[in-house]
Amino acid sequence: MRALICHSAKDLRIENTELPAMGPDQVRVKVAFGGICGSDLHYYQHGGFGTVRIKQPMALGHEISGVVDGLGANVKHLAVGQRIAISPSRPCGACRFCQLGQQNHCLNMRFFGSAMPFPHIQGAFAEQLIIEGYQAHPIGQHLSLSEAALAEPLSVGLHAIQRAGGVLGKQVFVTGCGPIGALLIGGLRRAGAARIVAADIADLPLKCAKEMGADETINLKTQPELLDKYKVDKGQFEAVFEASGSEPALRAGLDVIMPRGILVSVGMGGDMSIPMTQLVAKEVDLRGTFRFHAEFANAVQFLNSGLINGKPVITSVLPMDKAVEAFELACDKSQSLKVQIDFEAA
Ligand code: ZN
Repeated sequence: MRALICHSAKDLRIENTELPAMGPDQVRVKVAFGGICGSDLHYYQHGGFGTVRIKQPMALGHEISGVVDGLGANVKHLAVGQRIAISPSRPCGACRFCQLGQQNHCLNMRFFGSAMPFPHIQGAFAEQLIIEGYQAHPIGQHLSLSEAALAEPLSVGLHAIQRAGGVLGKQVFVTGCGPIGALLIGGLRRAGAARIVAADIADLPLKCAKEMGADETINLKTQPELLDKYKVDKGQFEAVFEASGSEPALRAGLDVIMPRGILVSVGMGGDMSIPMTQLVAKEVDLRGTFRFHAEFANAVQFLNSGLINGKPVITSVLPMDKAVEAFELACDKSQSLKVQIDFEAA
């Protein structure tokens, strides 16, 4: 079977690899769609991010859907032919943080397509995969496998909302309307946010934010003055989600957040300087958010039931043979939000 292997920056190859043997608690899957995520792009463009570097060839990818193709003897909740969304998260279940119910902080996490540990954890961009039975989440007949591959980035957004500790009836500001920010907006709508204002520096993501449920969109590059009305009286938003990973966006968020507001930083934009005086004087709660755990099942449920429609987020789908083209397209933020690879297309 073929897999998409990253050797180093700008060196992505389609290679033949061996599928490992299937254990009794495992499932063999024919991969259908794989979404290219920001971290995949970092590996492709720069060979890593922060201090994380690719030190050995690694298959990329962790946003995937597929069809069950074989079952281990102990797997009873699935059938061959079942269409599934696949959680890339494989916590150990035994460490201190798994025992605390914080599986996203697992000390022995084997998250698909991660160069954080060494040896690296191989990713899921391949024609076939062996997964654990618990990673498989059945999808409804009406949900496309392409949309099902959005369950992972939606989970990231839902976990960020959980970190804010409730948004019911609140005025919410979202900066950065790429796939995560846009899906997060869909989640905010369902979580009961009263009003959602979305900001970005490009029009394509703002159009998507509107389709995902934002009440107002602001282009911070061409109409920054639209933010002024939210800066008055010490700020107007009770919660801010910063999903761009950029310092100017974080600073804009601090300008418009109310005293004692909650600012959740979703983007992995690297280290930046924070105006501490402003943060302290406004008594702002600055919170991180990292991956997800239980939210994956919630995300699949929301997509299955149509409570969140992820279609506006998907801008292109290319066959596996055009994987490099797909990665280049995903790098171009002027025309791409979520770019997916179709592993079944000839
Ligand atoms: Zn663990």
